[in-house]
Order: sequence, then structure tokens, then C-alpha cells
Amino acid sequence: MSSNKVRVAVRVRPFSKRGKAEMDLDTQNVVEMADNQTILHSPASTVDKPQQSSRRSQKTFAFDHCFDSSEPGSARFASQETVFSSLGKDILDNAFEGYNACIFAYGQTGSGKSYTMMGGHDSRGLIPRLCDTLFDRVADRSDPGLTHKVEVSYMEIYNEKVHDLLDPRGGKQSLKVREHNLLGPYVDGLSVLAVSSGQDIERLIVEGNKSRTVAATNMNSESSRSHAVFTVIVTQVSWPSTAGSRRTGDAELSLSAVTLN
Ligand code: ADP
Ligand code: MG
Repeated sequence: MSSNKVRVAVRVRPFSKRGKAEMDLDTQNVVEMADNQTILHSPASTVDKPQQSSRRSQKTFAFDHCFDSSEPGSARFASQETVFSSLGKDILDNAFEGYNACIFAYGQTGSGKSYTMMGGHDSRGLIPRLCDTLFDRVADRSDPGLTHKVEVSYMEIYNEKVHDLLDPRGGKQSLKVREHNLLGPYVDGLSVLAVSSGQDIERLIVEGNKSRTVAATNMNSESSRSHAVFTVIVTQVSWPSTAGSRRTGDAELSLSAVTLN
């Protein structure tokens, strides 16, 4: 496991074509990224003319990863694949070692959380890529003594109420959050569905998204009150190599992805 338990990454998305202010021809990008540093220039200076920005007018911040996705096609452009290979692969490595992992996406409405976590058809985000790779790795583990069970749950927190997005009965009743004395907080009655492929998971995500209070692209005040938590639970069971049927040990780990809105 990497020595850092918490890693922080920032991502800059391209200017939005919808945002009127962002389309303005005078709009300048004031964020510059170099390796793991993010440099904010004061709007008076520009990234194009960094020599004009004095030390006083710029601020530098360091993160574990800085993803510059502001200009598609530029040499430093960070694609969905870049984000996945920098963050997703390590998370899976740790998960198979038995560690729980959580990816938490935070940012203003319209800043690109859903795009980064879920993405679109041609630009799949972290969650679908994680799920595919998870099943690839399960398939690669040819050890006959190991079996894997993969289950998912998907919930929405809206106005402080928890809704099950995968409830087979549909409905919108809210669920209670309870505290287990060993396992900590959990959502009582949340559906946990078994899946056997990345496509299974994507199908459930699509179904679950239909139940969300506000569709992901609908940028309005409602959407900022809606948060989604998608959890993948992988249970790894090892059997004795002699033909016994007793379970010798198992490890359960969960991979959650939280996206605010
Ligand atoms: P949020 O979930 O944070 O409210 P979205 O993910 O819906 O924001 O992003 C807002 C808009 O910006 C969407 O149209 C999305 O497709 C676009 N977008 C966000 N990030 C990127 C990116 N890295 N590259 C291209 N388009 C992006
Ligand atoms: Mg969103």
C-alpha cells in the first residue's frame, strides 16, 4: 500500500460551452499546472504571459496529482485514461490486499465531478473503468483456491434523506442510517445486488441514475443537494487446497465512490 493513506488530486475541466461568462472571448485561463503543482495567476496576468505575473500575484499549491484537462489536444492534456491510471490502479491494488477504499469527488456544480467519476459513452470515467479492471483482475487470478463475490449498492442522499437507487420495487421511501457496533455506520435495508461483469454494473448504474432526483447534467440549485454513493463490495474467499469444503478465511473489502451531486 502506498505510504499515503489519503491522496488529493485536482482537475481542471475545459471552459464550458454553455456558460455564458466562460464563452466570453476575453475569458482567460488563470490556472497553470506543472507536475504536482497548481499555480493560480491573478486575472490581470495570464498563463500565456507568465513572465508578467509577479510572485505576489500568483499562488502555488501542491497536490498528489494535478490533472490539466483544460485544453483537449494539448500536450499536457489529462484524459479519463490518465486519471484512471494515476488513481484507479492503485486503489484496486490496495483493494485486493484487503483495504477499503473511497474516492470522494468534491466541487461546485458544473465543475466536472460526474464527468470524472462516471463520464460518458466515449469518455468513460473512473467508476466504469474501475469495475472493468476489477473483473479483469478477478479473471486473472487463476488460483483455484480463491473465489470472488462482487456486489454493488447505489444510494442517493437528497435533502438529508437516503434513497436506494437500486431498489427492485422502485419507490422512493427513505432508509435509516444506523450504527453497527463493529462495522460502523450502515444504511438499513439498502439493496446489495450480485454482479458478474463490468457491463452488469454499468447497467445497474444506468438504472439507478434514472431514479436520481436530478439528472446529472441538470445544472440547477436542486442538483447541489443531491449526493450519490456507489459501493462495490468484493468478498474474496480462500479454500484449503486439499478437497475440503471448510472456509479457511475470507476478506471483504469495499470500494466506494462518493460524488457530491
Ligand atoms: P458536476 O457533476 O460537478 O456538476 P459535470 O460532470 O456534470 O459537473 O460537468 C459539467 C459539464 O462539463 C458537463 O457538460 C461535462 O461533460 C463537462 N466536463 C466536465 N469535465 C470535463 C472534462 N474533463 N472534459 C470535458 N468536458 C468536461
Ligand atoms: Mg454531477
